[in-house]
Amino acid sequence: MARPWNFSAGPSALPLEVLEQAAREMTNWHGSGMSVMEMSHRGKHFTQIRDEAVADLRELLSVPENFHILFMQGGATAENAIVPMNLIGRNGAGKADYVLSGSWSNKSYKEAQRYGDIAVAASSGAAAEIDGAQYGPWTWFPAPETWRVRSDAAYLHLCGNETIGGVEFTDWPDMAGLGAPDVPLVVDASSHFLSRPIDFTRVGMVYAGAQKNAGPAGVTVVIVRDDLIGHALPICPSAFDYANVAAAGSMFNTPPTYAIYIAGLVFKWLKRQGGVAAIEAQNIRKAEALYSFLDASNFYITAVHGPVRSRMNVPFFLKDDALNAEFLAQAEARGLMQLKGHKSVGGMRASLYNAVPFEGVQALISFMQEFERQYG
Ligand code: PMP
Repeated sequence: MARPWNFSAGPSALPLEVLEQAAREMTNWHGSGMSVMEMSHRGKHFTQIRDEAVADLRELLSVPENFHILFMQGGATAENAIVPMNLIGRNGAGKADYVLSGSWSNKSYKEAQRYGDIAVAASSGAAAEIDGAQYGPWTWFPAPETWRVRSDAAYLHLCGNETIGGVEFTDWPDMAGLGAPDVPLVVDASSHFLSRPIDFTRVGMVYAGAQKNAGPAGVTVVIVRDDLIGHALPICPSAFDYANVAAAGSMFNTPPTYAIYIAGLVFKWLKRQGGVAAIEAQNIRKAEALYSFLDASNFYITAVHGPVRSRMNVPFFLKDDALNAEFLAQAEARGLMQLKGHKSVGGMRASLYNAVPFEGVQALISFMQEFERQYG
C-alpha cells in the first residue's frame, strides 16, 4: 500500500529506505545478534555506528577539522540554555546578543536571559514596509546592516529557519563588517539542517534538533568551533559542557544510541542522493513549485517577504478561514497529512523536508487546485 505524503513540521517524514533498513536490522544488527537498542554504547558495534555517523556528517557538510561534531540530548530547547552556559563566559564580559525573527529565536532569547547580559541586536517583531509592500510582525528578516552587535558580546545568536513563521535567513554576514570581528555567530539550524550547505567561515556554532531532516527526536547535533569550548560557567551541568562531551566523543554519559543510529542511516541515505548540494537542488525545485502556485492563486495567501521565504516550512492561508476544517479533512482523505498550521499562526503549513519528494509536492498542488475549483 502506498504511504501518504507527510508534511509534518517535526518529528517529520523520514526516507522510506531508512525505515525499511532499520526494520530489517531491528533484531539483529549486522550479524551481532542484537538490536542497536540492546548494545553497550562503549562496545565495538556502537562505536563503529557513532564513528561512521560523525564521519558521514563531516563529509556531507564539509565540516572543517577545527569544528567538533557532538551528539547531545535535550533538543534545541535545552541548547537555549546550554549555549549561554558554555559560551557566555568566553571573554569575561558576560554578554550575548540575539536577532529576533519569530517564535524560536524569541524562546532562545528569553532562556539566555538567565545567564548574563542579553541584548536584542535586531528584531522583526513590528510591521515593516519593504520595497513599497507591507509585512506583518515576524514575516520578514532584519537586514544585517541594521543589527546592533556589541563588540564584546560572547556571541550573536540567530535562528536560521523559523519553523513556525516560515522565515529562512542564510545570508550570514561577515561579523568584521558589522564592527564585531571577535563575535562568533551561533545559529539554531534545527529546521533547515542538511537541507543546504553551511558556510563554516561565517559561523562559530550550529545546532539542530534531529527530528526534521536528520533523524528521530532524541538527539541534538552540535557543531562547534574548537576555540569556543572550554569556557563553561561553573553552574553548567557536566553532561552539558561541550568540552566534556567533545573529550568523550559524545559519550560523557550514555548517548541516545538508537536515535544516533537512525541519524547515521539518514546521513548514508543523503550521500546516496548525491549529498547536500543535490538535495538542495531538489529542495529549491519543491519550494519554487509550491510558492509559484501560491503566488498565482487568489484563493490561497502567503505572508512572508519573498527573499526570506523558507524552503522547508511553507505557511499559507485560505482566504476564507471557515474552509480550514474542510480543507484538512479532504487533504487527509487524499493522503496529504499533517498540513494544519501552528496554532500561533493559524492556517496551513506544508513542511517540505528532505524526505518529502517532488512528487509529494505535486500531489499537494493538484489537491489544492481542485479544492480551489470546488470552493473558489
Ligand atoms: N528551534 C527550532 C527552529 C525548532 O523548529 C524547534 C522545534 N520545532 C526547536 C528549536 C525546539 O526543538 P526541541 O523541541 O527539539 O527542543
